Amino acid sequence: MEENHDPVTSNNPSMAENTWQFETATVHAGLHPDPATGAIMTPIYQTSTFVLPDIGESKGFDYSRGDNPTRSALQEALATLEGGNYALSFASGMAATDTLLRLVKPGDHVVAGNVLYGGTYRLFQQILTSYGLEFSFVDTTDPQAIEQAMRPQTKLVWLETPSNPLLKVSDIRRAAKIAHSFDAWLAVDNTFASPALQRPLALGADFVVHSTTKYIGGHSDIIGGAIILDEEAAYEQLKLLQKAVGAVPGPMDCYLTLRGLRTLALRMKAHCQNALQVAQYLADHPAVAQVTYPGLDSHPQHKIARRQMSAPGGMVSLTLHGAEQAARTVATKTKLFTLAVSLGGVESLIELPASLTHATMVDTPLAIDPGLIRLSVGIENVDDLIADLRQALAALN
Ligand SMILES: *Cc1c(COP(=O)(O)O)cnc(C)c1O
Repeated sequence: MEENHDPVTSNNPSMAENTWQFETATVHAGLHPDPATGAIMTPIYQTSTFVLPDIGESKGFDYSRGDNPTRSALQEALATLEGGNYALSFASGMAATDTLLRLVKPGDHVVAGNVLYGGTYRLFQQILTSYGLEFSFVDTTDPQAIEQAMRPQTKLVWLETPSNPLLKVSDIRRAAKIAHSFDAWLAVDNTFASPALQRPLALGADFVVHSTTKYIGGHSDIIGGAIILDEEAAYEQLKLLQKAVGAVPGPMDCYLTLRGLRTLALRMKAHCQNALQVAQYLADHPAVAQVTYPGLDSHPQHKIARRQMSAPGGMVSLTLHGAEQAARTVATKTKLFTLAVSLGGVESLIELPASLTHATMVDTPLAIDPGLIRLSVGIENVDDLIADLRQALAALN
């Protein structure tokens, strides 16, 4: 760490000189002992406003919608973990997405994946189209489909990879090349992989978006979002939007997110190990029709996943031979896998996307199979997780 680093004035310093390995970065990024007290952990600056030394002067902070020191520490940590120059934190993943989409103007066009988080689809299709933005939803696992959807007005390509809930993997490097050849940006929703497994900026993306609610927070106790990027001009615009629109997280949520991300590397290892074993167990089970997990050879984009991700993640989806009725039975019979939306926490969750997280897509071309089950595999002992699935699947007999 730099000797004279003053946390009160440091906001998003460039991380270019940073040579830490990822595990080290998760522990140390954005951490500067409090200059007033020596507190090793970033204090929760639970304040809306800051005393000004004089009119027109400040100690780097004046009002917490604009900047707050706990938020600055979180933003610095997130920038470091994604290998970006800048990060901005938001009150939710959707607030981060909405703020980024404000760089796209009426009449502009966006190419997005046809398997997306339901809330992202709703924001794009139900809200932003009424402000004059145009969207094409295409199979982004096929680079040609992206290329064919590009128009002179295309300003942004939006990838979610691995996608929620079908775990489709899109080639970030190729998508970046296509977007840039049309003078458009590439944004990647990296929520499912987290920076522990995939760093889109290094693969050519212009923006990384997160729901920090999920793996980064990791404990199912906050809602938050972030944008991470390298380019200064876009950062200045987004920074203005963050302050002008005001969808900012409170200091307590920033603190909890920081606390959560300190163990991101360890947690992701456990999520990935458990998810692989759960996926293998399910693939061999006679009641299971199909298992989707990027770490299985049977996954259609297994090779791309291996190339751009360091491990396949903690999410598994499956369908059963008994289709929707069987899925409903299993989702209500598991005990450790709790029936709940969301993902990425230490505890295992089960849900049916077509009825819950992706209900906004029913009756659209993007509708999800009503028999699809999505598992967020937690960090419990994997034997207990498999035993739980075994007893729930036995209820089908
Ligand atoms: C949850 C989620 C979001 C939305 O984030 P919130 O924090 O719930 O607003 C966006 N993208 C993906 C992939 C998600 O899983």
